[in-house]
Amino acid sequence: MPGSFATRTVDVRLRASRVFITLAIVCVCAYAAAADTIVLKNGRRIAALTVVEDGDKVRYQTSAGELSLPKSIVDHIEKGAATPLPDSLCAAAAANLKITPPSVEASAAIEKGAVHDDAIDRGYIAKAEGEARFGTQGAKEIAALALHSAAQFELSRGDTEHALIDERRALTYAPEEPSILMNVAYLHLRRSEYKTSLDYLDRARAVAPDNPDVAKLSGWAYYGMNKLDQAVAEWKRAYALRPDAEIQKALAKAQRDKQEEDSYRENESSHFTLRYSGAAEPDLAREMLRALEGHFSTIESALNFTPPDPIGVILYTDQAFADITRAPGWVGALNDGRIRVPVQGLRSLTPELSRVLKHELTHSFIQQKTHGRAPTWVQEGIAQWMEGKRSGENASALVQVYDEKQVLTLGQLEGSWMNMPGDVASYSYAWALANIEYIVQSDGMGDIDRILSLIAEGSSTEVAIREVLHDGYDDLMLETRNYLTKNYGR
Ligand SMILES: [Zn+2]
Repeated sequence: MPGSFATRTVDVRLRASRVFITLAIVCVCAYAAAADTIVLKNGRRIAALTVVEDGDKVRYQTSAGELSLPKSIVDHIEKGAATPLPDSLCAAAAANLKITPPSVEASAAIEKGAVHDDAIDRGYIAKAEGEARFGTQGAKEIAALALHSAAQFELSRGDTEHALIDERRALTYAPEEPSILMNVAYLHLRRSEYKTSLDYLDRARAVAPDNPDVAKLSGWAYYGMNKLDQAVAEWKRAYALRPDAEIQKALAKAQRDKQEEDSYRENESSHFTLRYSGAAEPDLAREMLRALEGHFSTIESALNFTPPDPIGVILYTDQAFADITRAPGWVGALNDGRIRVPVQGLRSLTPELSRVLKHELTHSFIQQKTHGRAPTWVQEGIAQWMEGKRSGENASALVQVYDEKQVLTLGQLEGSWMNMPGDVASYSYAWALANIEYIVQSDGMGDIDRILSLIAEGSSTEVAIREVLHDGYDDLMLETRNYLTKNYGR
């Protein structure tokens, strides 16, 4: 699932007595899961994956992360009603490139030659390339299609790094083939490299001006760059050329954003485009940009990475935030490629808001640095570390859970956390932070940088951890447990 992260608006204190961890199988697609329903006193119904009552709050899981509501506005909770999660709650994730790559017509023989038995046949590809070098146009096409098939296979494994290498190489044999140009552009989009993507799309447009996929992908690039007018124009054009459901959905979302943001003012700093409602305080906007730039340099040097394009940030009134994200009332910020923050009634930057910005911005950096490959525990662990959270208050509970052998392994925490019971989710956030904290405190941020770089290159996270720390997941967890005891006592 493409990344969409939310800031938890309330600190979750782990209570060991309530931590009851079954071996939850993590990573179930959130979209079709059975759900609980929260019924508000005003009659509104909110579908959620899991709901737990916690003091004066009701916490619940959605595809946008854990959210919470004040209990005072909740009438009752219907447990286990098999209501599908409303589409709107998935909108954030869907906006993140839920789009099919343009198809390329390749003969089945070439596809089978290049990829079979669940692996790429490099021998076949080398031979095709050998023949293309001296060869006819036909031989060049075969080499291009063989490389494209390899890229498709790598993409299906989530390895955009190698997919891009092969797809670009395909382009050397078919430099004017629009479908290959568009597939290179698509891979850049998947990696949030919007400007580069547009370069390839421009080349494709020069050869195939009326190809609907060129317009569709260009819309995506502009949307990513926060240029809503151009995004809407491209998607309208794409839809006129060939109506499809993906474009329709994307267009509706962009128009919803645009309608709201048309009345917005815009501020820019070197790394951010900030939009805010006319009702928001211009002073607050300026202060936030200053804070964001400060966070940007901190995270940039901590993670040794600079995002290539400006990052979009949007400040909403609380009502507009609920309307646009379609997430209910009391929600923290969201990061679905753009950082969306409700700031109702705030006149100046509070320390809490500053932390939220830093947390969300960290997700943007990790997402881009790893091309969306970082698992959830790494994302949430580092985002919490960067915002300044530490393990103190949860240390003894975490050690107890570990010693009772009820620990969820880091492997289990790689996928989506959406289907976890609330207590398990709280524990997962705390455990993710503890492991990252241990790594940073032992050897510094350099290790985190190296781990993220290996993940970006296509390593599994455990292999990356082993390479950098010389430890597998089991050793890392044990050392984290020992670190907690040593630093925070028991
Ligand atoms: Zn987060």
